[in-house]
Amino acid sequence: MSADPALKQKVAETVDRIAGELETLSLRIHGTPELAFKEVQAAAWLTEFLEKHGARVERGVGGLPTAFRATIGGRGAGPAIAIMAEYDALPGIGHACGHNVIATAGVGAGAAIGAALGQLPFAGQVQVIGTPAEEGGAGKVKLMDAGVFDDVAAAMMIHGRCGTQVWRPTLGIIKVKAEFFGQAAHASSWPWRGVNALNAVIGLFNALDAMRQQLRPDARIHGIITKGGEQANIIPEYTSAEFYLRSTSVAYCWELLRRFTAAAEGAAAATGCRTSVTHDPTVHEPLKANPTMAGLFARNLELIDFPEDPDDGQAGYGSTDCGNVSQRLPTIHPYIRISPDGVPGHSREFAEWARSPLARTGMVAGAKALALTALDLLASPDALEQARRDFAQGEAGV
Ligand SMILES: [Zn+2]
Ligand SMILES: [Zn+2]
Repeated sequence: MSADPALKQKVAETVDRIAGELETLSLRIHGTPELAFKEVQAAAWLTEFLEKHGARVERGVGGLPTAFRATIGGRGAGPAIAIMAEYDALPGIGHACGHNVIATAGVGAGAAIGAALGQLPFAGQVQVIGTPAEEGGAGKVKLMDAGVFDDVAAAMMIHGRCGTQVWRPTLGIIKVKAEFFGQAAHASSWPWRGVNALNAVIGLFNALDAMRQQLRPDARIHGIITKGGEQANIIPEYTSAEFYLRSTSVAYCWELLRRFTAAAEGAAAATGCRTSVTHDPTVHEPLKANPTMAGLFARNLELIDFPEDPDDGQAGYGSTDCGNVSQRLPTIHPYIRISPDGVPGHSREFAEWARSPLARTGMVAGAKALALTALDLLASPDALEQARRDFAQGEAGV
């Protein structure tokens, strides 16, 4: 069920050999945070690196200018194993999700295979797929819709966190926007002639906070006011807020949307406003587990002496557009330690760890484990077949 140990050792050693270059690349991306769909420099640097190590690179795949696909071919036609790389940053807090590490681990895996082997000694191919806009744009969904994953047999990536866990669930999301329409008036001389849309949006937040007690424990509702008014001496005539409605099941996300809409309508009625609730057509789906691929990945972590950590159960779950990939084909999304215990993602502290020596160690381990797992799947048709069976039998969670 696994590739030749000598072959795996050669690829792992090649990751060590290029680790310095990979870290330089990781720090460069970290120091130049680019937002969703605007990852121009990161995409340029990553593709240049892959080309240098023998991969055949296609830029702008799937109609997304900052997406790419780098292919390392094998002996004849066969399955394609995709290693996904993310490289977008967060607004205001930079690489606080550590996507610079995801990018260089993924690209490092492909580059090491290319540099060590030139051509794969079996049928099929490894593809490194550069997937823009994980934070907010669901780039992977756009790439799937454009057919970029049509020929992919199995897909994998790593994500940094405060511990190494091959499997952790993620939540589905419906992204929703509530707008309130009132009437402007002088806030001092004629306030009774106004209809206050800010009161409506505050009412919505309060209604949602009261609602939480009656929600399932896996549900998460969180939002921000994106427009709260123009100036303090004008009764706000227009306000808007954006929320994510999350749960382990997409069906329950729809139930949350139904309740959210009722809360917005209630807040509008209470203040005399009109409301409009619209949701993003792209729904994030929860990750579907693949025990066969997860098992191969975990064994490769042991092989390189970077074993899993026990999950301390202190943190909840996030979401990823990789969930949608996992609902279409066998996929894993393991977490690799790049910070000490207890450091939350999307924090300034995590952004600092994403450029630390610990991040380098995690990035190198991630690149090795991704590369070795891809080789295992191509070397053993049985392993890939079993991953396909896991996928067919697995709980969808949608
Ligand atoms: Zn994130
Ligand atoms: Zn992330």
